[in-house]
Order: sequence, then C-alpha cells, then structure tokens
Amino acid sequence: MIKTDVLIVGAGVAGCYCALNLPPEQKVLMITKTDLASSDSMLAQGGICVLKDPADYGSYFDDTMKAGHYENDRKSVEIMIKSSPEVIRDLVSYGVRFARNLDGSLRYTREGAHSHHRILFHEDITGKEITTHLVDRVLQLDNVTVMEHTEMVDLITDGNCCHGAVLLLENGSLEKVMAANVVLATGGIGGLYRHSTNFRSLTGDSLAMALRHHVATEHLNYIQIHPTTLYTEKPEDRSFLISESVRGEGAKLYGKDMQRFTDELLPRDLLTIEIRKQMEKDGTSFVWEDLRPVGEKTLLEHFPNIVEHCREMGYDALKEPIPVVPAQHYFMGGVKVDHEGRTSLRQLYAAGETACNGVHGKNRLASNSLLESLVWAKRAAMCIALDAEAASRHDVVENYDVSGLLDSGRRNRENVRLVRDAIRRDNGGEEMPIEYREAAPELSRAV
Ligand SMILES: Cc1cc2nc3c(=O)[nH]c(=O)nc-3n(C[C@H](O)[C@H](O)[C@H](O)COP(=O)(O)OP(=O)(O)OC[C@H]3O[C@@H](n4cnc5c(N)ncnc54)[C@H](O)[C@@H]3O)c2cc1C
Repeated sequence: MIKTDVLIVGAGVAGCYCALNLPPEQKVLMITKTDLASSDSMLAQGGICVLKDPADYGSYFDDTMKAGHYENDRKSVEIMIKSSPEVIRDLVSYGVRFARNLDGSLRYTREGAHSHHRILFHEDITGKEITTHLVDRVLQLDNVTVMEHTEMVDLITDGNCCHGAVLLLENGSLEKVMAANVVLATGGIGGLYRHSTNFRSLTGDSLAMALRHHVATEHLNYIQIHPTTLYTEKPEDRSFLISESVRGEGAKLYGKDMQRFTDELLPRDLLTIEIRKQMEKDGTSFVWEDLRPVGEKTLLEHFPNIVEHCREMGYDALKEPIPVVPAQHYFMGGVKVDHEGRTSLRQLYAAGETACNGVHGKNRLASNSLLESLVWAKRAAMCIALDAEAASRHDVVENYDVSGLLDSGRRNRENVRLVRDAIRRDNGGEEMPIEYREAAPELSRAV
C-alpha cells in the first residue's frame, strides 16, 4: 500500500497547478494514465482568457453567461473572471510566453462569442506552452512524486468520505493508495466518441467512479461539439481542431456553392447547428473553411501548426479552403463541485474538465476552460491546505476488496455503461445525437 497526503489523478493543467499550489510539507502523488505529454491541456490551441482591464468585467461576464445560455453559476463566473489576472501572473512567473506587441505589452486575440479581444495566446500551441512549464515546475518539487502510465481504476470510500484509490501500475499490478485527500483531474470524455478532438485515453474514468460511489454529478448531457475540425477520410486517432481564433481573425465558412451561409462567430453550439443544417442541405459530409481572409502573415505567425497540419493532410490553407466538420470537444458537465472544488464526498475534490462547477452553463465560451481548470485547481489546493482534520483510515483502505477490478474488460465495459446511462438519464432518457465509438474502447491495459 502507498501512503500519501494528497493523491492527484491527472497531469493536465488542473493536476499540475493543484500540485504547485499545495503546501510543500504535504506529500503528493500525481499519476497519469498515459505519459505526461498526452493530456488535452497540451492540445489547447486558441488561448486563455483574462480580465485584461477592470472595464471589461461586465462584457466578459455577459459573454460567458450568454454562451452558457444563462444556465451558468453566476458566482462561479465571477470567481473565474476575478481570479484570472492572478493566474496569468503565476503563469508568466513560471516562464510561460504569451504573444506580445512590439512595445512588450501582452497581445490579445478574439474567438467566437467574445465581444472583445481578451485571449492570451502562444502561436496556436498555447496549451503546450502552459502545460510544459507547469509540468517542468512540478517535476522540480521535492514533495511531489509523479507516476506515468498509472491508472486510477477505483476510489476507496466508506460512503461518507474518500480514503484513497486503487491504481493499476505500469507493471500491470493493482496497488492501493491511502490518501487524506484525493483530487480528480482526469479531463473529459472524448475517448468515448467516434469523432472527438480529445485524446482517446480520456474516457470519463472519474465520472464512472463517482457514479459507482454515489458522488453527485451534474449536467452530464452538456457536451460541447466543436464546429470546425479538419475533415479527412484518412483514419485519424483524433479529430484535428481548426481553432476558433482562426474565425476570430476573419476565416469564413462556405457551403458547397462556396457562398457564406452563417455568422462564423456564433457560439459553438449554434454554429454547429448551422453547419449541420448546411451539410444536410448540400448532402455533404463537411463544409468549407476559408482561412485566406486572415492573411498569409497572420496565418504563418499565429497559426503555423494549423497551416502545417493541413499541408500534411493535403491542403494548402494559404491558397485554398479546407473541409471542416463538427466533432465532440468538451464536457461542461461532470463531477459536481462547489466553489472550492469540493465534491459531495468529504476529502474528494475535482478540478478541470472532470468537474462541473457550473461556470460554463450549457455551453462553454471559447478559451474559458484552461482558465477555469487553473482557477479551481488552485482553490482545491487552498482548501486542502486549510483542512487540518482530513485523515485517511487505514482499515478502510486495507479491507477494500479489489477482486471485482481484476477483469479489465469487465471493468471498462462497466465504466462505459455507467457513463452512457447517466448521460442518457440527464438527457431526459434520450440518446444524444453524438456517435459513440462502436466497440468498447481499449480503456486500459489488462491486469
Ligand atoms: C484540441 C483541443 C483544443 C483546445 N483548445 C482550448 C483553448 O484554446 N483554450 C481553452 O481554454 N481550452 C481549450 N481546450 C480545452 C482544454 O484544453 C481542456 O479543457 C483542459 O486542458 C482540461 O484540463 P484538465 O487538466 O482538466 O484535463 P487534461 O489536460 O485532459 O488532463 C487529464 C489527465 O488525466 C489523466 N487521466 C485520465 N484518466 C485517468 C485515470 N483513470 N487514471 C490516471 N490518470 C488519468 C490523463 O492521462 C491526463 O494526464 C481544448 C481542448 C482540445 C482537445
């Protein structure tokens, strides 16, 4: 049995920033199912929002609420926006490089449904820039042990309180961890879907475990489809995102007749509806996105990786429109947390895409998720630091029966079933119009 003060499950921005904000005297174990490079945080292209000026508060708040169909938790939105300058200061202090103007001031871009330019970016690889710096910092901490290729396969609870988790180690054996606090930061659920921008390994594991242990969840049918991913007939591991900031900078969408059919800066959910309508009308599997209005200079400076990927897939985005199609992208629902990241189970926290604090309402505003993940990761860390009474019970962990976890195929099928059933339940008993992967995904290695 491994003993630690805090177990952080997941090594994306939420997991890493949580580790960085825990007191150095707490012993922390951070695990990731894959390697450190394979988190969705590494994939974020567009950027991260910030309250760049107090005068923008009202407009930023309204844009977030409007995109979320006013179903957002107002307090959560306030917390996220007001915390953003501090988070950005932290990131800059870690060495994260955001694009700057010639005079050295921060440069802002814009994405769909934003009234103003308020998004910081690093080329079109903002997530990689941020996450790489966070991971590097975490690896320097003496109190944090990082284990890659280590998967949480169950929580250990006594019904009222979380006392640890069961891990599947790289060598294929199961190991129990006893921890006074557990932080779920396992990202989204895209790995369950046929077309998704997410890493295939992100299969909503925390959600399945929360459901199994009767931890409260919320809005499981609030699943965001990204309107524009590169359409390809070549089999791809995951759909390649054509960032919304490309449209923010002027890219246009065309139907089969090469005519515009919609406002490209609609919120994601509404734009997805418009694109699907157009595809149906045209009898096509995609619509066209024309990046040329952005201008060659901006495309090469701001979106070099998108241009390069398109080229690899056979399209010269500088010279011709590219085919795009909607794909599953983000999970607004999740394990329900309060404003401090606490779940309904004592000593169990959740942050990042796994958690639902209500900030996004029914639909996330672009570039709010890196920020939200960081804000709640820090709040959870602060809350853990202040909770002097948290303690794990050796007897509960010792006696926890893991025999039901040995059959990996059964375990994975059961996880998928739990998540799918709960999504359908929250969707009023109806299946959502998003195609699941046909076979039960290979969620983990066999024991
Ligand atoms: C292509 C793409 C572009 C995006 N662009 C933007 C953007 O421009 N701006 C923005 O704000 N947001 C963007 N997002 C969303 C944003 O990147 C994510 O919401 C955010 O990074 C989630 O961070 P996280 O730490 O919660 O999860 P992730 O970064 O996904 O990390 C999850 C971690 O959990 C681990 N894990 C999962 N299950 C287990 C398990 N059972 N046991 C152990 N470990 C496990 C994974 O291995 C991984 O380390 C984008 C997302 C994608 C996919």
